[in-house]
Amino acid sequence: MKINTDLVRILERAQQGDALSKADCITLLEYAPTSVEAGVIRGVADALARRRFGNEAIILGQVGIEISACPAKCKFCSFGEGHTQFAPSKMTPEEILEAADRFTASGDLYALFLMTMHTFDFDSLLDVVQRIRSRMPTYPQIVVNIGDFDRAQAEALRQVGVNGAYHVCRLREGTDTTLDPEDRKRTIRVIKDAGLDWYYCCEPIGPEHTAQELVDQLFLGIEYGCFQHAAMRRVWMPNSPLAQHGQISELRQAQVVAVVALASLGCPDTRNIAVHEPNLIGLSSGANVVYAETGANPRDTEEDTSSHRGRDIRACKTMLYEAGFEHLLVAPNERRPLGNAFRE
Ligand code: SF4
Repeated sequence: MKINTDLVRILERAQQGDALSKADCITLLEYAPTSVEAGVIRGVADALARRRFGNEAIILGQVGIEISACPAKCKFCSFGEGHTQFAPSKMTPEEILEAADRFTASGDLYALFLMTMHTFDFDSLLDVVQRIRSRMPTYPQIVVNIGDFDRAQAEALRQVGVNGAYHVCRLREGTDTTLDPEDRKRTIRVIKDAGLDWYYCCEPIGPEHTAQELVDQLFLGIEYGCFQHAAMRRVWMPNSPLAQHGQISELRQAQVVAVVALASLGCPDTRNIAVHEPNLIGLSSGANVVYAETGANPRDTEEDTSSHRGRDIRACKTMLYEAGFEHLLVAPNERRPLGNAFRE
């Protein structure tokens, strides 16, 4: 079987450490997910990522701390105002602390994520972080996944013990959402300027997105220097305004993971690659990060995702073991053997 010589040249350059261009990445994304070329792309991305990260994986845990009809009206999200089916709810600080305890009990978690809607009570968030930090002064990392914020707020978050922020200028931001892409980018610059770890993602990928759109969106993470890059597919939900487009396969998502992993070889700031939601194909195509989830989840139709789509720490660890990882990063400079997750 012959492999296209253009593809071989692109992958050889990646192996030599040369940064891929946008045109290279479009070429990689235009192969059918079932083609031999896509298989080779995923295989090379996997091998290079394992070498780059020392076959080390990371488990993150996200707590969705509140639900309300969100004014961002994202057409792919189960909380968007105008189509959400959820009644408003908010976890108490005690419930959030219990969730943090569950996620951190084994010591396997790298970072605890706190997720709100686009609009949220900033002072309540600071209070919750302070409570977590008074119980857990140095471990784990705390990351916020919240709406846009300014430099003063970034500083306030840092002061109470936040280490990073997940913030994305999404695919078709401003078209499939009511948000201004420039506001999203402004917050990303704030995150970087404040010295917080910036978590980015190519999301939420649907069948209607072209290779050019995917590449333009994922390169923002490289141009601005993300700490974490990732790929997330949009989960089909019957009441979503985008339901008619359906959902991409995990195989296609893994192809995007592979391209993200290869493209980010040119970004020294990128320290790990995630796949949302976790799956084995993504973890053998360049990703080394999985998320456990509890509470609200924009990809779920259940109020508490932990009984539905969300995985717990043990399930994440088992999946990483199945994917062949040997080490877990549990703090910025601390790794431990992954071990045999089945024996625990
Ligand atoms: S994805 Fe986030 S910002 Fe958009 S509607 Fe959902 S909660 Fe709001």
